[in-house]
Amino acid sequence: MTQQAKPPPALHDISAAFNLVRNQNAKAMRAAGRRPEDVTLIAVSKTHGAEAVMAALEAGQRHFGENRVQEAQAKFPDLKAAHPDLVLHLIGPLQTNKVKEAIAVFDVIHTLDRIKLAEKLADEMEKQNRRPPCFVQVNTGRETQKAGIAPDDVGAFVAVCRDRLKLPVVGFMCIPPIADEPSPHFALLHEMSQRHGLAGLSMGMSGDAELAIKLGATHVRIGSAIFGQRPTFKESVEL
Ligand SMILES: *Cc1c(COP(=O)(O)O)cnc(C)c1O
Repeated sequence: MTQQAKPPPALHDISAAFNLVRNQNAKAMRAAGRRPEDVTLIAVSKTHGAEAVMAALEAGQRHFGENRVQEAQAKFPDLKAAHPDLVLHLIGPLQTNKVKEAIAVFDVIHTLDRIKLAEKLADEMEKQNRRPPCFVQVNTGRETQKAGIAPDDVGAFVAVCRDRLKLPVVGFMCIPPIADEPSPHFALLHEMSQRHGLAGLSMGMSGDAELAIKLGATHVRIGSAIFGQRPTFKESVEL
């Protein structure tokens, strides 16, 4: 690590940052004529320890996002036991050999992005008798290195997941290209949700959550604006 990572804010700051985010989102909802219960704020706690999650729990937060199965397994079982209403969202790529563990620990999956994974999820849901709602990840920017279903293939993919595999598909998720203005990506995802009759829209992060709310997001995934900057060496391996 050559770069100096900004230290995470002290624990008492998490509740202040969290309240700020909550207020900004509420303002965006009012401006868009949307109700607070229409938008779920997911606090993305990846790379941050259990104490950070506890500070957010203390501030009333219940939805959390993690991008790695192993990290979630290490951090959340005790927290979930202590807070049965805690809802854990998987927002990172899922390998088929981790599906069993993922179904056991996550309550919502935002990264359904290929047939092989869909088949494995259907299998494992049956085995564990647990059916976490799933979002189909769409590669709205058609980036070769990024996960997600190509926009043109979304209809066929949804048909397989929903009709053949009977997966609980609830909507779409996207991560716009870093260099792009996010609006067209959010608008495209919204249009897909209308076309396929799937209401869930997982879009918007720390930098663009208000815009995403304006364009119809039902789930915003916010990490650094609540918990502070993540260490840069971990940043480089995500996505
Ligand atoms: C890390 C991550 C987020 C949160 O990003 P911030 O910019 O810290 O809010 C949201 N979505 C996904 C898929 C992520 O990996």
